[in-house]
Parts: sequence; structure tokens; C-alpha cells
Amino acid sequence: MRLLLIPVVCIVAMFFIGFPQSYAAGDAVATGTRVGGNETRTRFVADISKTVNFSVYVLPDPYRVVIDLPDVTFDLPPGIGHKVRGLVSQYRYGLVEAGKSRIVIDTHGPVLIEKSFLVEPQTGQPARLVVDLVKTTEQAFVKSYNAEQAKIQKDMAALSVPPADTAVPEKKKILGIKRGKKTIVLDPGHGGIDPGAISRAGTKEKDVVLSFANVLRQALLASGKYNVVMTRSDDRFVSLKNRVTVAREKNADLFLAIHADTVRGRDARGVTIYTLSDKASDAEAEALAKRENRADIIGGLDLEAETEEITDILIDLAQRESKNHAMFFSKKAVAQLRPLTLMTGKPLRSAGFMVLKAPDVPSVLLELGFLSSKSDEKLLTSTVWQSKIAKAFATAIDSYFATEVASTAN
Ligand SMILES: [Zn+2]
Repeated sequence: MRLLLIPVVCIVAMFFIGFPQSYAAGDAVATGTRVGGNETRTRFVADISKTVNFSVYVLPDPYRVVIDLPDVTFDLPPGIGHKVRGLVSQYRYGLVEAGKSRIVIDTHGPVLIEKSFLVEPQTGQPARLVVDLVKTTEQAFVKSYNAEQAKIQKDMAALSVPPADTAVPEKKKILGIKRGKKTIVLDPGHGGIDPGAISRAGTKEKDVVLSFANVLRQALLASGKYNVVMTRSDDRFVSLKNRVTVAREKNADLFLAIHADTVRGRDARGVTIYTLSDKASDAEAEALAKRENRADIIGGLDLEAETEEITDILIDLAQRESKNHAMFFSKKAVAQLRPLTLMTGKPLRSAGFMVLKAPDVPSVLLELGFLSSKSDEKLLTSTVWQSKIAKAFATAIDSYFATEVASTAN
């Protein structure tokens, strides 16, 4: 089933990215959550310190219920999302955008939202957000889901929300000859509600990659040659689409997505650099791209409608050129890294990563190593290793742009 569009609330929220968060005394705080009921009817309750607006909707593949909230601080005991019963298999919560929080409830199968309401706070009692779920058939789910999506589309048309950003870039720059400081966008993967890969010891990919991105950012700024933009600078969820949007809006000269992988049952180690390709270079690269592209699902978004192949010939040409530049940079990076650290057997690979799809920005995805390997985990969490590798990338970036300038000056 092709998913149509995500609800208006998500789309509107996508126009806002990354502002530092602070919690004032008047902020809403979720102080408790409970799940009750059985396999046919289950109630989810959240205690919130004050009245909030919210919207609830279901999503398929996998089946889940999403509750969108304004900025809510979650003051909940660890592991509470696994204390579940009935139709609910687990739930997650967190900040997804500036001023926007979310609870994602995974269900064992298709469910319908029978009702949802908020009980106003009473003396000494917090507000209670209640969502009642009932078991349904796949058929009934699809029918209800499609009706809901049609309504959302109608609402969007009424609000004249612009369509998904697949148009030809307005200011098509010619790659490589922009004057002045180059703009590098660093994109630490995952964040917030989406931890990414997790090591046995509990090291989270989202933390490791943010820490590395900060070190790389410092190294690049120190040279005075670059503007550096981060797609996130704290622990928050950013959709894949928004990461690409940042690259394009900032007119980035280079986009670096930063990740760390895990594999089961094998002792894989080392750095790999990925570029975008319709056809994956190998099965492992394809499996990895699938895992990384699931980030939006973890965050409760569905962006399938926006990942449709872009057929416009101009975009196609720009993308081809960007890919060549990305490949050129990747080779420079491998040359710098190889003497310093372990790389995987095939350090240059390609696959269909959604986050690399800005047609006019050379984009590369770094997998810094494997959190499933204790030795790699040690390196990934070491500030000495991080700064050594960041310096190597900064050198590769210098060398990449130096060559670019030389080749376009002819
Ligand atoms: Zn990742």
C-alpha cells in the first residue's frame, strides 16, 4: 500500500528546524503513563501537568498510533514504555521538533482509535490524556486510514499548504564555483525518540555521532574556511526530509551524514563511506540503507510519498553531477583515513539512502564503525580517536575543495 501523506500537523512542523530548547516553569510535563485493558480493547493514559492540544492518528507498516503534542517534558521512569499490555507492544516518547513532542505507541496489529479526549486538571490532579484503542481487521484499518488521509489532503488544500518539495531547485548553482566560504552541513544521524544503533553496553549511535559531529565542526571552523551548519546540535529527532531540506536551504557545498552501524553475530569493524545510488553496491549496503531509512518510522513519520523517484531531467542531471562530486570527495576521505584507522574491506560503497537525496548537493554518509564491536565502540567513544578522524576529514575536505577550484579555474 502506498501511503499518501502524513497529517497536516507533521507537515507544518517540518518547516521548523532545530532551535535550542529550554523549559520554563509553565511548560507541560508528562508525569505518568499507563496502559490498561486486553487484546480487544486497550486504554492508554498520560498524566500531563496542564491542558494541552493534541492530535492522534494511526499509521501502518508497522501498525502504530501517534499522539502529537506541543512541547512536553517527559518526566517518566526509564523502561516505562515496555510496561504494556493488551494491544500495545511498546511505546516511545520525546521531542520531535522545536515546540513539538510525540508519543508513538506500537501495536500488535491493526487498531482503530475508538475515542481520545483530555480530562482537565482538577485540584491536585494533573490533566489526563486518554486514548482508547480497539482491535480491528486489516481491511477496516485500511478503509479508516484512507478516509483519514483523504480528509487531511482536503484540509491541506484548504490551508494551501505547499506540496512536497520535489520541484526543480530555484537557485540552481553550478557546483564548485561558488565564491567565498564553503558551507558544510554536518548531519549527525538519529536523535531524540530515535536512538539509532545501540551497543551491548548501551552506547547509543545518536550520542556518538553527535559528539563526533561537534568535534568535526570545531576542526572545520578552526580553519576559518568554512561555514558549518548542523542539522541537529542536541538530542532531538529530525526527519530525513528535514535533514535534506537544511542542506538545500543552506546551499550546502557538501553534506556529511554521520552514523555508526551494528551487525548481528559478526565481528565487523571499521569505517565505510557511502554515496547515493539507485542500485546498491552490495547486499550489505542495501540492508544498511534500509535500516537507516527507517529513522522516520521510528520517529512516527511516514514519508513514502515524498521518496518517489524524481523524474525531472534537470534534477536528474544535477543529481548525477552531485554524485560524481560525492564520489570524488569519498576517495579523498579514504586516502586520508586509511593510514590512521581501520576501514572495512570495501570502504567505498553506495545504496539508496534517503538522506543523500538532495539533487544539487554532493552528499556522503559516513559509517564511523560498528557499535556491535567492542573495539570499535572503544574508538567511537574516544575523544582522541574522534579528533584524529575529524582532522583527517577536515584535510580531505580541504583537498576536495582545493581540487574543485583548480579544475573549475581552467
Ligand atoms: Zn544510523
